[in-house]
Amino acid sequence: MILSTRNDHKVRELAEILPGTDLRALPEEVVLPPETGTTFEENALIKARAAREATGEVAVADDSGLEVDALGGRPGVYSARYAGEDATDGQNLEKVLADLAEAGGVGTARYVCAIALVDETGEHLFRGTCEGRLVAEPRGDGGFGYDPAFVPDATGPEDGRTMAELSPEEKHAISHRGAAARLLAEHLSA
Ligand code: IMP
Repeated sequence: MILSTRNDHKVRELAEILPGTDLRALPEEVVLPPETGTTFEENALIKARAAREATGEVAVADDSGLEVDALGGRPGVYSARYAGEDATDGQNLEKVLADLAEAGGVGTARYVCAIALVDETGEHLFRGTCEGRLVAEPRGDGGFGYDPAFVPDATGPEDGRTMAELSPEEKHAISHRGAAARLLAEHLSA
């Protein structure tokens, strides 16, 4: 399977979540079209279709992001470029936390991941979510993106660690990408 992404973090996480799957990187020469969709599913399909058309191989792509309730679901599909086209993870996180503070600071949020699979049978979509809340002071070195400020509900009310303080195995067991990838794995083994 070709994984249609230029995001190394996603390649690493999906390979960890789907051990034993023959996941290959998108060939360098394939140009990914702009993510013009308004939903995670649309953007995942744009990327998977592009890889399928360019290589003829079974193609998978994910699109993911953070929805903050107090911000009306933003940054949503704009999570990777919330603070600007070339923004770093740190800049995006800083902007979300500043916007949240302005909006009153109640940080309930969720990560969402849509995975698209395009193969000879057609197009298939899988969605995973991970509920949690944002904290004002980022903590931890693991994960990526908004993880240092995201405390998942699934570790329990006593825990309080951010996603960036969990081990990769702990993160995958509860993450949006883990949930969507397990649905993909079930489909592939059916
Ligand atoms: P995409 O490449 O368009 O799917 O953008 C995904 C963006 O959403 C990433 O760049 C991060 O900002 C955010 N994101 C998605 N999944 C995660 C995660 O597991 N942890 C932290 N941030 C994430």
